[in-house]
Amino acid sequence: MHHDGTRGGQNFYLDDANLQRLLKRTAAPLSERCSQRLTAFGAWVASEVDPAAAYTDRFAPPILEAGDRDGELHYRLICNPRYEAAHRQVYEHGIVGLNHGSSAEPFLLTFAMGYLLAQADISLHCPATLTGAVAYVLERFAPPALRERYLPELTRQDGCAWTGATWATERQGGSDMGAATTVARATGNGVELTGLKWFCSNAGADIALVTARPEGAPPGSKGLGLYLVPRLRADGTSNRYRIRRLKEKLGTRGLPTGEIEFFGADAQEVAPPPQGFKLMMDALEFSRVHNAMAAAGVQRRAFREALAYVSNRRAFGATLSTFPMVRELLLDMLVELEAAAALAFEAARSFDSAMRDAAARPWLRTITALAKYRTAEQALWAASRAIEVLGGVGYTEEFVTARLMRDAQVLTVWEGPANIQALEMLRLVKAGQGGFEAFTQRIEAIVVAAPERLAGAAAATQAAVDDCRRAVTHIRDHPDDASCHGRRLLDLMADSLSAALLLEEAVADIASGDARKAVVADRFIARRLEPPVRRGLAPIDDPAQHHFDAIVGYEDLPITALRGQRPAA
Ligand SMILES: Cc1cc2nc3c(=O)[nH]c(=O)nc-3n(C[C@H](O)[C@H](O)[C@H](O)COP(=O)(O)OP(=O)(O)OC[C@H]3O[C@@H](n4cnc5c(N)ncnc54)[C@H](O)[C@@H]3O)c2cc1C
Repeated sequence: MHHDGTRGGQNFYLDDANLQRLLKRTAAPLSERCSQRLTAFGAWVASEVDPAAAYTDRFAPPILEAGDRDGELHYRLICNPRYEAAHRQVYEHGIVGLNHGSSAEPFLLTFAMGYLLAQADISLHCPATLTGAVAYVLERFAPPALRERYLPELTRQDGCAWTGATWATERQGGSDMGAATTVARATGNGVELTGLKWFCSNAGADIALVTARPEGAPPGSKGLGLYLVPRLRADGTSNRYRIRRLKEKLGTRGLPTGEIEFFGADAQEVAPPPQGFKLMMDALEFSRVHNAMAAAGVQRRAFREALAYVSNRRAFGATLSTFPMVRELLLDMLVELEAAAALAFEAARSFDSAMRDAAARPWLRTITALAKYRTAEQALWAASRAIEVLGGVGYTEEFVTARLMRDAQVLTVWEGPANIQALEMLRLVKAGQGGFEAFTQRIEAIVVAAPERLAGAAAATQAAVDDCRRAVTHIRDHPDDASCHGRRLLDLMADSLSAALLLEEAVADIASGDARKAVVADRFIARRLEPPVRRGLAPIDDPAQHHFDAIVGYEDLPITALRGQRPAA
């Protein structure tokens, strides 16, 4: 077995056999059409973005300069030139523009780019996501005049693209967005906004989508409108808002996140109440899929770093990767990574499907909540495991693992924390909402299609769905306890769906004679679905341990590698 030490370098696309196979299996024409583009992007992320991210994080995070040249305070956001260059170039690569115009590509492509980008820098992935969200809302939902004016600026690929932001959170409400108190006052030719937004990422954005309440509108989310706020006014002067401070954060230090105060800022209405809130939720849905992509990307990077390290580091006279406990850890990371990728890419594909067919929306909402929740939790776990595997150096800032861990935590917070995803799931599983029915249909179709060789995995997956069905019946029968069970329900459903999606991949690979994914699915099921032996240890019959090198090296495995298929010793 040979794995180079990584610390960036190489090509994040070409090195990722699982990603390539996933795209080929589910979107063959796209994967063929865009393979050169993804190759170039994977090389750029590894060679340019990664070192720039390390530099920005450690030595040159954004700063806010306050001056009072004319007796009046001026605030200027300063990002270092390497961050600015990477931020410009990510749009030249098409992470937003490719989805728009006459030959628009499916969002799956740019979500996949998000997965690659986040492996190097979540501080860059965030603004690219926000810009994409603004472009998506403008194209799909904005009045034609606004769309024609601003969409071309956001979708440019010539190095001059505008960047976007979505600012909804206020001091009194992030999850409770309807508590917003920013006021929208109609003027002769537009709207003026006054109020304070509390967390504003990409604080230097050229244009932002902002929620606000028109004078006289009702309280709560029903009274929120949505407005476009440009950084510069029509006459080229600064718009009437200021970044009053930048947040000092645990991670994503390269990303300018500010508190922004609007004092009569020029704005244009995208949607009045009650549509305004709904459109912000649409933007959020897009960002949640990207969040899942980023979280899967973090897991990939954590695994990559851990594997590279154990392949080279020696202790007690042997290479770390030969120690069974180290292998166990690596295998756990890999299995969770492949489960996360399966969830995130399912969400990405569902996003495109729901654009074509509104009937697919309940499934999009369901998979988005599950993927957002589970991948974020596992990204943090994986980053922590990577530090464990690297030992002391993993805890230092000279290795990417420390930054990875600090940055990963944000994925569990923004775009809706776990409980907010659980509340969404409780809404979706209510009778008549269609979320749970879409969930069971998706999984049971996979189970039914499994061949005899995978009967064990299929039966375990079916049993897991049956557990979910019982749980949902209980919730429907006892609506008063529902909110207590939300998180548990999310876990049951995420486990079941992950197992099913891995099984689906295993079925496809088995058909071409490769049992590797079946071994991965099997291990996931053994870890997550099958009840553990009570307070004890069981004999080890784990094909993943037997075939460690092939599993972590993404080599094909013969059918005989499967549990129960090996000849007796
Ligand atoms: C680095 C960073 C950048 C950000 N950038 C932006 C941005 O650009 N634009 C923007 O609009 N926002 C942004 N945010 C804000 C982010 O979206 C919010 O922090 C997040 O939505 C949570 O809102 P909150 O902080 O108000 O927490 P709260 O809503 O107060 O939640 C606190 C905790 O209570 C739980 N909780 C809340 N309500 C319930 C309930 N009914 N039942 C059970 N549990 C509940 C939550 O799950 C959470 O764990 C950013 C945040 C961070 C950290």
